[in-house]
Amino acid sequence: MKMYTATISASALKVRSRESYYARQKRLFFLVIILVPIIPLLFISWTASRFYQQSWMDKTTVELTSLANSRREIIDLFLDNQKNTLAGYAELYDFAWLNTPGNLEKLFKAMNHQGVIVDLGLITQDGSHRSYTGPFADNLKDKNYAKTRWFAEVMQSGNYISDVFTGYRGVPHIIVAVTDPSRSWVLRATINSELFNSLLAGTEVGPGGDAFILNQQGELQTPSRLGLTALPLGEEGLLATDGSLTIHHSQDALYASTGMKNNTWTLVLKTDIATSLADFYRARHRDRLIIAGAALLILTVSNFLVRSMMNKIEGADQQRMQLYDRIRNSEKMALVGRMAANVAHEINNPLQIIGDQAGWVDELLDDEDPAQLKNSEEYRTAFAKIRTQVKRASTITHRLLGFSRSTDGLKTKININTLVEETVSFLEKEATNHRIAIRRNLDPDLPEIVTDSTQLQQVFLNILNNAIDAIGNDGAVTISSSLNEGQLAVEFADSGPGLSEEALKKVFDPFFTTKKAGSGTGIGLSISYSIVERLGGGIEVRNGKQGGCIFRVTLPMAA
Ligand code: ADP
Repeated sequence: MKMYTATISASALKVRSRESYYARQKRLFFLVIILVPIIPLLFISWTASRFYQQSWMDKTTVELTSLANSRREIIDLFLDNQKNTLAGYAELYDFAWLNTPGNLEKLFKAMNHQGVIVDLGLITQDGSHRSYTGPFADNLKDKNYAKTRWFAEVMQSGNYISDVFTGYRGVPHIIVAVTDPSRSWVLRATINSELFNSLLAGTEVGPGGDAFILNQQGELQTPSRLGLTALPLGEEGLLATDGSLTIHHSQDALYASTGMKNNTWTLVLKTDIATSLADFYRARHRDRLIIAGAALLILTVSNFLVRSMMNKIEGADQQRMQLYDRIRNSEKMALVGRMAANVAHEINNPLQIIGDQAGWVDELLDDEDPAQLKNSEEYRTAFAKIRTQVKRASTITHRLLGFSRSTDGLKTKININTLVEETVSFLEKEATNHRIAIRRNLDPDLPEIVTDSTQLQQVFLNILNNAIDAIGNDGAVTISSSLNEGQLAVEFADSGPGLSEEALKKVFDPFFTTKKAGSGTGIGLSISYSIVERLGGGIEVRNGKQGGCIFRVTLPMAA
């Protein structure tokens, strides 16, 4: 019993390990099928995205550099132009001429034909405003500039361009001032802020971009498009230039900064990365969605492919294993059969002799005087028992010889249904005694086949006998015959208890029996198996859906 349990768990373990092997293989195939297309897809998308971003960055850097250079040149030229024009006038005219009423207005008109300046003033060496033409006459007429920074600077260096400052007029403005060659008076013009700001306004820095000028303290000299009032925090590095053009890359913006106005100002151009790359980000998002969709499709298709492939592999493996089992079984049967037949052959002769001798001694007893024989009755009983047991043993040895019996030369043309009917006739009485019905479901159009009818009948008898034994009392055996794919099939389905999984595997093993000692030998089905195999057919057993066993014997049509 213990051995039996151990065998079950070993085979259960085998099944389990096979299942886990298939599950592992399934996972592996699945992974390979998915990763092989998806990894290159992701890689291509990643490199394409990086390549596009990098080339955009390179292109924008070049554009920003050339834009910053051209703007700086334009603005520097504009300021220098105003300064040089003013210096030219200061050299051309003397203080007296300029101070003569109406002359400063003439000069203002000459210089301002494009609206470049808003006012013009003449200031003496001591800082007092001597003559003025422009809109702020009331504010500035009597002012003295001796203490202002710009006045000190212009007196010292001969010319000066200021930062944006509010001054006495209370409005942000830039002034350009020059002295006469002997530095005894100053000619000062105020730059038109709107015109000046427009020099930067048209700069192409893209959506979300900005362009402005900073002084050395980081104060804005022109308005910012984004409404900045001071240098953004964290971008102080923009000021730390030696005047040359530098490209500065922050988290979300690309800056070009360059010194101008003798490095007293910094021109800053900014391109917003996120806004400029918005189209690219949209395209990248769409690409990612497409890749995700493709991945999903690959996932579904691979799942389907792997499943069907693994099912096929599993099916093929199972078929192969069944074939191995059958081959192993046939070899085992052939070996055991040969051994059994040899043993039967050897035992048959001594049995014959024992039987004959017992019969002869029994006959000799007839010649004896019964009065002389005290135990005559006991002798006769003993001889009868010897003959019975010898007969039983001979039956077994004769059956065992079935393993080696050749089928050559004994084949005849038979109708399988007739053979079934003959077999049933042998056992019908016994079946009726046990209230077991034998039903037929025979195909009347079966062709005749050439086979060994005696041995085939032994097979049918054995199967039918077993079915009646298994049912015991009250039940039915249904025998069906049919023609399928060039093979004749005869099925015996009984209403007995059926067989356990383990017994199903062993039922054709020699000496496997569940019958009690003395009533079963366990060789009937193994002999049947080797007979049917020799006849070129096969025999299988399974449990029926409604219980009971179904034995199916198949036979080839050709001899
Ligand atoms: P024996 O009948 O001498 O035991 P067999 O080789 O004919 O030897 O049968 C082997 C065993 O197969 C039987 O002991 C029985 O357990 C089982 N068997 C055969 N046919 C049936 C059946 N129809 N239903 C249930 N068990 C069966």
